[in-house]
Amino acid sequence: MSAAATAGAVLVLNAGSSSLKYQLVQPDTEEVFAEGIAERIGDHDASITHEQAGSKTTEIRAMPDHLAAVEFMMGLFAEGGIDLGTAGLSAVGHRVVHGGRTFYEPTLITPEVISEITRISSLAPLHNPANLIGIAAARELLPDVPSVGVFDTAFFHALPDAAATYAIDRGVADLHAIRRYGFHGTSHEYVSGQAAEFLGRPYDDLHQIVLHLGNGASASAISDGAPIDTSMGMTPLEGLVMGTRSGDLDPGIVLHLNRVVHLGVDQIDTLLNKQSGLKGLCGENDFRTITEKMDAGDESARRAYDIYINRLRKYIGAYMIQLGRVDAITFTAGVGENAASVRADALADLEMYGIRIDAERNALRSREPRRISTADSAIDVLVIPTNEELAIARQAAEVVGSSSAG
Ligand code: ADP
Repeated sequence: MSAAATAGAVLVLNAGSSSLKYQLVQPDTEEVFAEGIAERIGDHDASITHEQAGSKTTEIRAMPDHLAAVEFMMGLFAEGGIDLGTAGLSAVGHRVVHGGRTFYEPTLITPEVISEITRISSLAPLHNPANLIGIAAARELLPDVPSVGVFDTAFFHALPDAAATYAIDRGVADLHAIRRYGFHGTSHEYVSGQAAEFLGRPYDDLHQIVLHLGNGASASAISDGAPIDTSMGMTPLEGLVMGTRSGDLDPGIVLHLNRVVHLGVDQIDTLLNKQSGLKGLCGENDFRTITEKMDAGDESARRAYDIYINRLRKYIGAYMIQLGRVDAITFTAGVGENAASVRADALADLEMYGIRIDAERNALRSREPRRISTADSAIDVLVIPTNEELAIARQAAEVVGSSSAG
């Protein structure tokens, strides 16, 4: 491929503790040149799945660290005809999970910014260090391409004080930056923007609820263009029932697990983040398997599903009251975009609140933004595919464009 085609494209990197998702995308035309994911980084049998020019390959090989994964990824790009070093990339856009109170706009990565992200890593010890490794790898292997950090917390930085504050000792909270930050912000912002576009209405006039239901899951309430509440808190553990995370629970449980069950902090961390949620309840965290099991009469899958839906309805109800008037409720991410039964059950029997789902529209499978409510539903219910990579690429390109412009 000629470098002209990729000139201005953004390489989006989303580094997790043992994974690296990536996409090379042209922010203006939305053309995706290649994408992939490296998993089990650090293991002798790490794998990388790479899709470029219509062909998809999976390779298994040892990748000791993220630097090796980025190097290997660059090799796969080159095999497909794209030399990332000379492709004319405008930026590498990094998803950074926690921006703390410092970062609420996409930010050009400099040594000072790296120091500050490192400093606030204590707020997201599972996530930010991995993001930093991705940043370091990109800076080493693509030294001429500027890196931009796009923060998952940014969209929620101005949550009203009443929504952002935990009811604990103020001195302790202030000293240790304990407050609700919210996550999945890039997705909530993108999807709520797309919803306004779909409805042909000004973003700033709309009252919206966005339900991002993926493996991680979160809900947000957006009033006149600004989020007023969201379900994730100081960490991505709070809120909805997720694939492997518990979401809300009585903090007394943590004390009990430590004091009575004698689990250490790391064990409790693993229990609540990796062995809870749907997985903890029924042994599965993939909704496709859970649905199959439920259809086959599996009781624990049914129970997990009911608990998931119950929590979701609780948040929807709370946000309807907080917003006062709701114009649109939008489902997004893996579960929200694909699981018609979740959408139907989350909003079942709410006709008296102006919500009517059209069963036929809801059952339709599509990758396009769509309305699944009936024509006479007072509230529009939408399904809008999220695209965090595109959102990150656009924001990164904007930062680089404005910094080079002056
Ligand atoms: P994340 O980015 O948080 O890893 P995704 O948004 O990709 O998550 O969502 C992943 C989840 O979406 C899977 O775990 C699965 O439960 C669900 N999912 C994906 N496809 C389908 C489908 N066709 N039907 C039901 N659920 C699905």
